[in-house]
Amino acid sequence: MKTSIINNPADAALEITAGRIVALPTETVYGLAADALNPSAVLKIYETKKRPDFNPLIVHVSGIEEFEKYAEIIPESVFKIAETYSPGPITYVLNKNSVIPDIVTAGIDTVALRIPAHPLFRQVLTMCGKPIAAPSANMFGRISPTTAEDVLKELDGKIGYVLDGGRCRIGIESTVVRFEDDKIIILRHGFVTKEDIEKVTGKEVTTLKGKASKISSPGMLLSHYSPHTPLYIAEDLEYFKNVNANAGIVDFGVYRDLKETALNLFSDLRIADEKNFNYLVTRLVENKGLGRAINDRLVKASSGRAVVENGSVLFSKK
Ligand code: AMP
Ligand code: MG
Repeated sequence: MKTSIINNPADAALEITAGRIVALPTETVYGLAADALNPSAVLKIYETKKRPDFNPLIVHVSGIEEFEKYAEIIPESVFKIAETYSPGPITYVLNKNSVIPDIVTAGIDTVALRIPAHPLFRQVLTMCGKPIAAPSANMFGRISPTTAEDVLKELDGKIGYVLDGGRCRIGIESTVVRFEDDKIIILRHGFVTKEDIEKVTGKEVTTLKGKASKISSPGMLLSHYSPHTPLYIAEDLEYFKNVNANAGIVDFGVYRDLKETALNLFSDLRIADEKNFNYLVTRLVENKGLGRAINDRLVKASSGRAVVENGSVLFSKK
């Protein structure tokens, strides 16, 4: 199959309506999209990405008024968060009704709903008149794509079309939040921070870790967002600049703030990955606010491989 980059959202909408999959731009990263109400179309997403079948997909809708079509109970906090952050990079995990097919949610009884902000994605939603299931448009476990060309590098020959919406303006995935009784729980850190959510809801927000996280959010794996070249996390990048071992330094310290770091995170990893280094080395950012989402991606991109200081391994899960 030849993969073409296209510019007309109507062509992308036709693909989805016909039960095929197509890559679409969102403000976070590019998505691989299918009609969420068509199980055989959704199956193509899992097959194409080689995504494990226990990993549920995010369903995109055009507005919050759509939520009641697919979710049972919508807590007040959802409306409060949405007032400020939707359309945008936040995903709400709610108890599902029977309209969304089980394959979309990997058989669990919740559905993840997001209202994307990218104008082209929104046009496709309106033209299709259907909810759209879309994980990131990369092969499973790999770096998320933030341009149409990145999608081609991942999926060339596997899909018909990539709708080109330019470079994603955010560059890191949505925050995934779950609502339980009166509690708000972050399942995946993303562009909207814990502090942002606390401010608009007036409630304390918690983060799930370890085993609890695996049960509540299947698909959150230790290894993800990974370059082909082994990535190590170090304390002292200066040391590696002087080591003659063909190491690629990915230094996010060059950016002015965390938003700019998030914007360049995946593209810098991808560029470094294409340069035939023996290994890559990076450093974590300060672990607060948006820094939590950035560090989550970096730790997973390194597959828990190692934390090194002055060349000696301090911590390794491999
Ligand atoms: P991706 O679209 O690949 O960026 O990943 C979306 C992530 O959202 C998945 O890996 C899941 O961990 C999470 N997710 C999607 N649907 C649900 C759900 N119903 N309950 C909990 N987590 C979910
Ligand atoms: Mg992904």
